[in-house]
Amino acid sequence: MKRLLLLPIIGLTLSCQQPQTTTADDTERKIDELIKQMTLEEKIAMCHAQSKFSSPGVPRLGIPELWYSDGPHGVRAEVNWDDWGYAGWTNDSCTAFPALTALASTFNPERSLEYGTALGEEAKYRRKNVILGPGVNIYRTPLNGRNFEYMGEDPYLASELVVPYIQGVQSNGVAASVKHFALNNQEKWRGNINVEVSDRALYEIYLPAFKAAVTEGKTWTVMGSYNQFRGQHCCHNEILLNNILKGEWQFDGAVVTDWGAVHDTKEAALNGLDIEMGTWTNGLTSSQSFAYNNYFLAQPFLEMIRNGELPESVLDDKVRRILRLMFRTCMSNNHSTGSLVSDAHKATARRVADESIVLLKNNNAFFPIDTAKALTIAVIGENATRSMVKAGGSSELKAKYEISPLDGLKAQFPQATFVYSLGYAGGPAAYGRVIPSPLDADSLRRAAIEAAEKADLVVFVGGLNKNHQQDCEDGDRQEYELPYGQGELIEALAAVNKKIGVVLISGNAVGMPWVDKVDAIMQAWYLGSEAGNAIADVVSGRVNPSGKLPISFPVKLEDSGAHSFGEIAFPGDGVNEKYLDDILVGYRWFDTKNIKPLFAFGHGLSYTTFGISDANTDKSSYTAGETIKLTAKISNSGKMKGAEVLQVYAAKPESEVARAAKELKAFSKCFVEAGESATVNIEIPAERLAYFDEAQHDWVVEPGKYKLLVGNASDNITDTLTIEIK
Ligand code: BGC
Repeated sequence: MKRLLLLPIIGLTLSCQQPQTTTADDTERKIDELIKQMTLEEKIAMCHAQSKFSSPGVPRLGIPELWYSDGPHGVRAEVNWDDWGYAGWTNDSCTAFPALTALASTFNPERSLEYGTALGEEAKYRRKNVILGPGVNIYRTPLNGRNFEYMGEDPYLASELVVPYIQGVQSNGVAASVKHFALNNQEKWRGNINVEVSDRALYEIYLPAFKAAVTEGKTWTVMGSYNQFRGQHCCHNEILLNNILKGEWQFDGAVVTDWGAVHDTKEAALNGLDIEMGTWTNGLTSSQSFAYNNYFLAQPFLEMIRNGELPESVLDDKVRRILRLMFRTCMSNNHSTGSLVSDAHKATARRVADESIVLLKNNNAFFPIDTAKALTIAVIGENATRSMVKAGGSSELKAKYEISPLDGLKAQFPQATFVYSLGYAGGPAAYGRVIPSPLDADSLRRAAIEAAEKADLVVFVGGLNKNHQQDCEDGDRQEYELPYGQGELIEALAAVNKKIGVVLISGNAVGMPWVDKVDAIMQAWYLGSEAGNAIADVVSGRVNPSGKLPISFPVKLEDSGAHSFGEIAFPGDGVNEKYLDDILVGYRWFDTKNIKPLFAFGHGLSYTTFGISDANTDKSSYTAGETIKLTAKISNSGKMKGAEVLQVYAAKPESEVARAAKELKAFSKCFVEAGESATVNIEIPAERLAYFDEAQHDWVVEPGKYKLLVGNASDNITDTLTIEIK
């Protein structure tokens, strides 16, 4: 009801209308009304695509279309109505934000909120209603081609970062679509591989970030995955969608398929799917006159309702969820216009990138490099100049601009002379196939060695490159070490110039048999539009590195859990894959099995020196319903302002069930001035110490003694506290 307010202002009487507030009940009533007015055909139409990236509304009733876009690192360029070709618009370039592995390595939920908000603003400006991201599949093996789109190997870290991302996106009236639900942890055979995993690993490792996205982030859509789980495709999986997502977690939004991930009408109708997208990937060019009508949730669904095989209530529930999504997005009261490639978005992209870079190793204080000196710097490696936003599959972006590492360095080192040499070449980007480079590898290598010999120091910028099988959708990596002979090249460069630092651009851990040959290594992920600026920020010391690894770097592939049980555990036998590593994923495996990783989860150096001390809990004994209050002091005894991430892991030495040696339960990123210290306050609800009991199908906080391990990396624990749960 609109109310007329009479306001006396400086002798005048103005009338104005108070903004209307719509309650959830109002919306549900409107939805009831709309559903009553819709024909069966109109309802069916809403449950499936009408083009590559849209699904229809009901024009007769003023219900608009829904427009979707990838996701998750920026708003993808417009593609054609019925095929994957780009439409060639001139106003669809975006800000490329850092990839999600980078966001995770900030260990900073504030950056995630800022990222999500900016991305939502770009989506709003581009008139998208659903952004197909974020991705939170757990990093199980360094070979997964899409790890760069996800938030690392730890369920708690991913949960803490996914929630603000979603809240930020959705504050714009744009829906997030958390993906790929669930267990899509490799690209090989992704369309059919059947994952067998214990309930315990499912609930403790693979689902928590999705659960947080739903119950805390309140995501408005969830995207199902391509693979199968316990013999059913995940886009129509009774356990995942009906029992867990819509049952246990009470998800009230819409489940969207991954593109082309539906295989059966009845299962899709009954097992929780709401919107079908991407089936018959060549759209209208299929033999049918209007292929969208032949989607599983189109004509075949209509017929099953008409002939009584399926009740109409099943359809009504889907339409209700889709309308709810519409009232939150394209039919919401949020009329903001958003903005595209604004200065604020550029600043966000740079801040996230700055905070995400992880300094892995820094002997002889190789980094930061002094900007005041007239040095000759040999920059070697294809990734110093190669675009990293264009390839990689569905997350590729048409960025308005992208600063290369070489350009970024040149801008911040005006006194230096740069000599650039390619060193190796990866061949042009191509989806689903490898095109070798036509350049001669020996000549490239010789030229690079010559450049290194003459330089004061060498910065090697290499890594992976989003080519097929090098961090790209639809293909896993084939080897753990660096491709294109980069490993040998680094060794050859180190042999002629001892002052060598490496900047790695990748979304995955890589093997480094050359690790001892170089002074310094910086992990710089895929950083998007501001990549070169951010890399130069950290190389020059303008920014003190504060990123921490959201993944473990094994020395060799066979060291990691997923690769310790033969092919059936990864990549499977073509039909089934058994997650025999169970709950021991990432550092949980390394630490429990006493295998030293090359670089541990949570690791990341700084240019200053931090100390952690005085760790304490408020009490020594708690009930399961209480919250543990932990404090610790972080001191910066170096000469530069910086940020440290306090990490708290829990261990249960004597337990009725198998436990990981430690599990991350809390973290806090803290910025401290040089010479100062700060007290960090952390709260850990005791229920966070629970394990998932398969027999009871519930979380159980086991009574007894627990250790709280406080440190700044999973392999650098400085304080151990013991508490008891009664
Ligand atoms: C990917 C999704 C993506 C969709 C639409 C699929 O191939 O798996 O992540 O959102 O395509 O581009």
